[in-house]
Amino acid sequence: MLSLVIMKNLGFEVLPLFVKTPFYTKNEVVLKKQLEPYGVTLHIKEDFEEYMRLLENPRFGYGKNLNPCIDCKIFFYKKAKELMEEVGASFVVTGEVLGQRPMSQRSYTVLRTIEKHAELTDLVLRPLSAQCLPETQMEREGLIDRERLYCIQGRTRKKQLELAQSFGIENFESPAGGCLLTDPQFSQRLKEMLNRKDELNNPKAIELLKIGRHFRIDGYKLVVSRNEAETREILENFGDLPLIRCLDSPCAVGVFLKEPHMDTILKAAAIVKRYSKKAQNLLFKGSREFIIDTKPIKDEEIENYRIGGTNA
Ligand code: SF4
Repeated sequence: MLSLVIMKNLGFEVLPLFVKTPFYTKNEVVLKKQLEPYGVTLHIKEDFEEYMRLLENPRFGYGKNLNPCIDCKIFFYKKAKELMEEVGASFVVTGEVLGQRPMSQRSYTVLRTIEKHAELTDLVLRPLSAQCLPETQMEREGLIDRERLYCIQGRTRKKQLELAQSFGIENFESPAGGCLLTDPQFSQRLKEMLNRKDELNNPKAIELLKIGRHFRIDGYKLVVSRNEAETREILENFGDLPLIRCLDSPCAVGVFLKEPHMDTILKAAAIVKRYSKKAQNLLFKGSREFIIDTKPIKDEEIENYRIGGTNA
């Protein structure tokens, strides 16, 4: 938002771009609302398959968790380059601040590496840190007055908040968070899936990572809802997948990504029962339907199947 206002104040037409990833929780509806006062149209780009490929095997590795920040930034830059070429724009502007993030913004060398791999060398302007970075092509050519840019560095957001106030920007995103790949528990769940291509290529499997308790039984993934809202979400959004639910009272629901064999269904039913103690009978609903009468699994046994911490 700050970079957008700076560039507009310098007289440029700005086309904001939101690059969606399957793991970013902020959404475009909120962004569109925040951009309304500036009379700009939000462009959106995403590519599930390309993102999953980079996540599987990031050239520059992962951060503290499963966050491939440098490769992810290269992906963002590439999408910006695509838009730049589609609309005939002259260069790309970002809100990056030198030294703000430990991985992808830690040094000028990293920023240059990202530019190079996105084939945008010298074509990325970072108005918030430009004065403490070498001149870009746009500055050398006199397209931008460097004196009207800033030299903000480091992790504190103090200067940015002061600028937001001076520009009258009131409605903006919290600067931190939003990416599930930096969450240790989420990363553990995802890591468990990394060598399972069929699940990794399945957007529903990725969506399911965001909710419930996760189990692996005989190679099959089972997700069990933790509360009423998750039960509703599974029934509404994943109701076409094989399910175990209660027949007679409100309870947890378990969902598989694909239909397992009978002995796996029975093990899963005992897990669902563990979280639905009031329920009498359970119902399996897949290519066929049948009632299951089972006892809850024992606490010491359930841990043999659980993925990614207790999260109960
Ligand atoms: S925190 Fe997440 S969205 Fe941000 S660069 Fe890293 S992987 Fe990408």
